[in-house]
Amino acid sequence: MKRIFDLFFEIEFYLKIAISCTIIQQLIYWLLQDIKLNFISHVLLYWLLGSVSFYSLGIFIEKVIKKNHSLRAKLTARVKKVKQQTYPTFTFKGIIIGEIKSLIAVLIILYLAPEVNRGNSLLLNFGWLLMRIIAFDFCFYVTHWLFHQKQFLKIHLKHHEFSDTSSFVAGHKSLTEYTIVTIMECLPIFIFGYDITQLCAWTIIGNAYNLEGHSSLSMFFIPSDFHDLHHTCFKGNYGIQGFWDRVFNTLNPPTKKPRIMFPVSMIESKLVNNTQKTQINSKS
Ligand SMILES: [Zn+2]
Ligand SMILES: [Zn+2]
Repeated sequence: MKRIFDLFFEIEFYLKIAISCTIIQQLIYWLLQDIKLNFISHVLLYWLLGSVSFYSLGIFIEKVIKKNHSLRAKLTARVKKVKQQTYPTFTFKGIIIGEIKSLIAVLIILYLAPEVNRGNSLLLNFGWLLMRIIAFDFCFYVTHWLFHQKQFLKIHLKHHEFSDTSSFVAGHKSLTEYTIVTIMECLPIFIFGYDITQLCAWTIIGNAYNLEGHSSLSMFFIPSDFHDLHHTCFKGNYGIQGFWDRVFNTLNPPTKKPRIMFPVSMIESKLVNNTQKTQINSKS
């Protein structure tokens, strides 16, 4: 029974990502349908949406949600206590360097990847985006697991400077790690081509779950302390979520957050509670 729930729990994450990406993709398609975009406007659109969503979502989580103490207490996914750390404030120079880095990355990616137009079919876009998140989770698992091996650990240590994570730790990595993860994340578009509407949707949703995953909160995409545990324990949980860690036996069991946004965990906790009540009643 628990195995079935674990599997549904992991499928729920993939579906949520694919459905959210498809909704955003449809919206962008509708907004851009009568506009002819050239290469430079593709670059600027992809880069701007990525940067604006990263900073605005991160600031919203850190400065609005986390400052509301009752909301923070309600949403927190962290179980393991860690020493408080403050994420350094952004400097103008730091932001500019970060933005130049991502603009160069976007320029190279879009220059090398062929453009394709996948239209606005719901099913086709959903299928592509679902395949992309499952494949990315696997590639991320392998790369992240390798980063934790002695030979490559140096590349990844910057990301682990924080046990008490802030949303912005999502982007806190060495240039080598940034380059490797970006190339690995973009492999599918080098092979199958990029559709600008899918790409923009992917970057917005990618930022959303990555920022949430480092925020120590469970709001919409992140149903447990899975990645938070990775930062507090420095071991296990190398995937984006638990599926590949369960397959390769590297799972540090996360604590699920049974909330309305996470129906599988909610049903599971209700069933477990009911079963426990029945067992207690039958014993007494
Ligand atoms: Zn790590
Ligand atoms: Zn992390």
